[in-house]
Amino acid sequence: MKLLEDRIIKDGKVIGNKILKVDSFLNHQIDVELFNEMGKEFKEIFKNDTITKILTIESSGIALACIAAQYFKVPVVFAKKHEATNLDQDTYESAVYSFTKDKHYKIRVAKSYISKSDKILIIDDFLANGNAATGLADIVSQAEAKLVGVGIVIEKGFQNGRRVLEEKGIRVESLAIVDSMNEGQLKFK
Ligand code: 5GP
Repeated sequence: MKLLEDRIIKDGKVIGNKILKVDSFLNHQIDVELFNEMGKEFKEIFKNDTITKILTIESSGIALACIAAQYFKVPVVFAKKHEATNLDQDTYESAVYSFTKDKHYKIRVAKSYISKSDKILIIDDFLANGNAATGLADIVSQAEAKLVGVGIVIEKGFQNGRRVLEEKGIRVESLAIVDSMNEGQLKFK
């Protein structure tokens, strides 16, 4: 998506050679107009698929999933990372390794919010090694729902995520694929 690639080039900051910081428009400050365009693009990509629910993970995925959901006209469910007394006790759970925090955490979704008849689109901001998406896909499979695909804003094509997901037969669609970020120079696929 040209608009997104231009924005990444303009405002993205490469940290080391693996982390792309896009806080100014994607995961701290949010450019709602850009999110609208991304939401429309996800709808265009999945226009021939039946989707009944969008699943994401807190916190960066939520805003994006909600804006996309307006085009799909479906609810959003987000996996929770923190235990809370107001979360149903009956949950699907999966363990996820965090690429940015270098530790494992648990994600949970109340069983009441995903059912066998659901056709799920997973949406997230980044795809690195595919751990977050794999955890979400695991929850979809525990619920015996159908996983239609994974929609990603920025895929780092030099990491393993796509391979890991495609090996499980999961469809991956990314709005921008960064092929390399050597010495701060970004190249797209
Ligand atoms: P994965 O689970 O695919 O290894 O990593 C994806 C998750 O890690 C995303 O949900 C995102 O929050 C975070 N992440 C991975 N790489 C980056 C990055 O380069 N920049 C930012 N801002 N987040 C990242």
